[in-house]
Amino acid sequence: MTDATRLTALHQAALLRAGHASSRDLAAAHLDGAERENHALNAWLVIDRQGALEQADAADARIAAARAEGPAALARLHPLAGVPIALKDLVSVRGGQATAGSRILEGYRAPYDAHITERLKDAGAVILGKTNMDEFAMGSSTEHSAYGPTANPWALDRVPGGSSGGSAASVAAYHAPISIGTDTGGSIRQPAALCGIVGLKPTYGRVSRYGIIAFASSLDQVGPFARDTRDAAALLHAVAGRDERDSTSAPIPVPDRWLSLPGPAEAAASLKGRRLGLPREYFVDGMEPGVEARVREAVRALEDAGAIVEEVSLPHTEYGLATYYIVAPAEASANLARYDGVRFGPRLGDGDVLANYLATRGQGFGPEVKRRIMLGTYALSAGYYDAFYLKAQKVRTLIKADFDALWAQGFDALVAPTTSGVAFRFGAKMADPVAMYLSDACTLPVNMAGLPGMSIPCGLSEGLPVGLQLIGAPWAETGLFELACGYEAITADAPWRAQEPSALALAADPATPTPRQRAAAPGAGLAG
Ligand code: GLN
Repeated sequence: MTDATRLTALHQAALLRAGHASSRDLAAAHLDGAERENHALNAWLVIDRQGALEQADAADARIAAARAEGPAALARLHPLAGVPIALKDLVSVRGGQATAGSRILEGYRAPYDAHITERLKDAGAVILGKTNMDEFAMGSSTEHSAYGPTANPWALDRVPGGSSGGSAASVAAYHAPISIGTDTGGSIRQPAALCGIVGLKPTYGRVSRYGIIAFASSLDQVGPFARDTRDAAALLHAVAGRDERDSTSAPIPVPDRWLSLPGPAEAAASLKGRRLGLPREYFVDGMEPGVEARVREAVRALEDAGAIVEEVSLPHTEYGLATYYIVAPAEASANLARYDGVRFGPRLGDGDVLANYLATRGQGFGPEVKRRIMLGTYALSAGYYDAFYLKAQKVRTLIKADFDALWAQGFDALVAPTTSGVAFRFGAKMADPVAMYLSDACTLPVNMAGLPGMSIPCGLSEGLPVGLQLIGAPWAETGLFELACGYEAITADAPWRAQEPSALALAADPATPTPRQRAAAPGAGLAG
């Protein structure tokens, strides 16, 4: 039999229903890969073999009972029943850790399940463990994790993107067919692009944030990673929908269409006549030529399949970064005030309340988090609120209006690069925070406007993956999925699709150095 870890989640699900595989065997195969390669990738902060196998046994029992009952009972199971999944380490799983990549939450145990955890457990998905991330999701490379960086499965001396770098790397490395990330300014789409997989940030309000450790509450969204669109849609289907514990989760129906997306022929045919906008501002100065070439080829392929592509303008794009870096830190400074050494995680200091507070936060938070708290506190302070925060909110409205104007003109979606470059080397942007912030120039306007955005692989540049970004109107995820399925269909035979991440063999070698060692000695003959 072919290696089950290479199969999509839905293919694995089909084997489970047909009785051709057990959830226990699937979980074990993925756990083996994760345990074998994690020293080299550091994608996982916890690999929960025992807990996963227990969940898998329960799923096997559930599937067997449904099979005994008949086809109707089998059909009632969620497609993800028995399928392995990875969760970013800011998703609460009752009794488990949720560090958010920070020392300040080391040892903290979540007292309850996040809404999405409940939904995944109800569906019967098997949670294999928790993945590495930039501290409190602040970053674009996973180098800001307090637990060491994650390596890119395509090149172990390069970053997987961030902040959901561990979730992206685990799926790219076949440690799980699907995973969960969060995206505040690009943290699902950018790592998906850099690791060569599919990632979707849903419309703001599509997925409940209950039980997700907050970064910037008006921007944060939970979303899926997968190796193809169908899997991403099935995972979003499992977790989306109204939850009264998150007042910003919307009472908008979750389409069952996400579980029955068109097959290749229908998807390719449906590209005909689709009206796509190509925002000129997203082809930024300094874009790598290989990345621009892949994106333009993808756009041409869509045109050849009958899509109507028009160049459009989103004139306030250039203010996206500045606006985001007022709004996101402002919200973060408020959200992170709760980490006071009293309620969560370790308490440092000698007993005096203020001294404890200063010691806990001084040692518990890393430099990037402190930078954001200072930026945010400053922008919200009495004398500067109007000049910075209020102004940023007004510009945010203009950014959203740019997009609204295009939807009013009847565009089905926008196509754009996800990033301006391929995965960069460890350390390349650590000394210059603004260079790191620029990694998300093409993704964060989508968060500012609350829109759904997706990144799908569209080829390689210098042997490294390139992402194509699809942006839709609010609640238009179905259209993005159909468009992505169409693109997958028309490029199904492209040679780059057959290529596996080039560093997997090296990652499996026990002698391969850890990402922390590589990051500490960049370029020291450790490339791979
Ligand atoms: N890189 C951006 C930041 O650091 C976005 C991160 C995210 O989406 N969580 O804020």
